[in-house]
Amino acid sequence: MRTVIGLEVHAQLLTKTKLFCSCSAEYFGASPNARTCPVCLGMPGALPVLNELAVEYALKAALALHCEIPPRSIFARKNYFYPDLPKGYQISQYEEPLAVKGHLDLPTGKRIRIRRLHLEEDTGKLLHRPEGYSLVDLNRAGVPLMEIVSEPDLDSPEEARLYVEELRRILRYLGVCSGDMEEGSLRCDANVSVSVDDQLGTKTEIKNMNSFRAIEEALKFEVARQKAVLQKGEQIEQATLTWNEITEKTELMRSKEEAEDYRYFPEPDLVPLQIEDAWREKMTESLPELPAAKQARWAHDYGLPAYDISVLTDERRIAEYFEEVVKIYNKPKDASNWMMSELLRLRKEAPTSAIKIAPKDFAHILQMVESGQINRNTGKEVIAEAFQTGKTPEAIVQEKGLSQIADEETLLSAIDRVLAENSKAVADYKSGKEAVVGFLQGQVMRATGGKADPKKARELLMRKLTAL
Ligand SMILES: [Zn+2]
Repeated sequence: MRTVIGLEVHAQLLTKTKLFCSCSAEYFGASPNARTCPVCLGMPGALPVLNELAVEYALKAALALHCEIPPRSIFARKNYFYPDLPKGYQISQYEEPLAVKGHLDLPTGKRIRIRRLHLEEDTGKLLHRPEGYSLVDLNRAGVPLMEIVSEPDLDSPEEARLYVEELRRILRYLGVCSGDMEEGSLRCDANVSVSVDDQLGTKTEIKNMNSFRAIEEALKFEVARQKAVLQKGEQIEQATLTWNEITEKTELMRSKEEAEDYRYFPEPDLVPLQIEDAWREKMTESLPELPAAKQARWAHDYGLPAYDISVLTDERRIAEYFEEVVKIYNKPKDASNWMMSELLRLRKEAPTSAIKIAPKDFAHILQMVESGQINRNTGKEVIAEAFQTGKTPEAIVQEKGLSQIADEETLLSAIDRVLAENSKAVADYKSGKEAVVGFLQGQVMRATGGKADPKKARELLMRKLTAL
């Protein structure tokens, strides 16, 4: 049996204002209905005006996904009644979308075709109260969305997840969508069917998957369910399902009989959207280096392992940070280790705080460790401090007296003390147990608060021991 999956991703565009009015599009956390006006409340006679930046963002995404941009696209009314839709229709694009026929390459190398990419407005939100009534919040009504529809080229739940991950990465690189799935900035619906022979099976649609895990789990569940039905010799019913995260099951939302007829027709209040060549070229030129291109270049330029590359290029800011670091500290693998083990760890511990340490300062700390000015542990300490305060490494080392001790006199006096306090270990050494050197060196490090230059300390320790 063959699994066929197609995905529809709704991505909220990062514009300041809504798609057809000047209300703020940043509705998250705002008090209910505070971000509304006659246009997005659907008052009679209010007229929509298209947000130019939303078009630019959608164009950038379309170009990054290698889409064709027809010179003209039109907005359409998608009619249906639901209390979160004040006009009784949603302004979307139907027969002539903004972009068509693109593709996205998965990290595995497989190419997934993109059928279309279009602009539409979001709906409001309903809050269903346990008391038995619902509240309407229209802050989200009119927020710009971009819908990206793939061809049914995905053949497993794992591949579907990879597709959404890569798409999200691209949109975040472009800066057109935050990709925050928990806040609903990136939403995904899936069409899935299982076919017994080469004929395409009857498909079901799954809605309400709002994490990568949910996408994979919902699809796994649905594929297994369809296979079980077909194995019993029964038919799959065409239906719209919803994913229940708590029970981890798909549930019936509506059957084929209840399928909506949206009676699409061209939106009479908006003129056709024309994308001139100059505009399209300007958008093409504004595209940053995209994740896949960056990964290929890094493998060539830096010779890093694939794992390091995938971790460090996941987010554009971190990738560019790394590029700045290696401009100064030209040891990519070493810099990569430090960034993954220190910088990314610190950020994971404090995800909301900004990274205050500048790339040049990060590179400088690595240089200081390499030259022996500070040891590795001190290097980590300085990174942690600079991460929070943005102070330069020199200032931190000076303030905290963290410089490494390489001065012979100071080291020798510490060694003398250690040898005097550990006569048993010294005796062991004399009787041929060379392994105690490591222990004694550890004691010297401890006696100097971890600041002794390890190489120098070992050299002096050995000199002392052999002279005994
Ligand atoms: Zn408004």
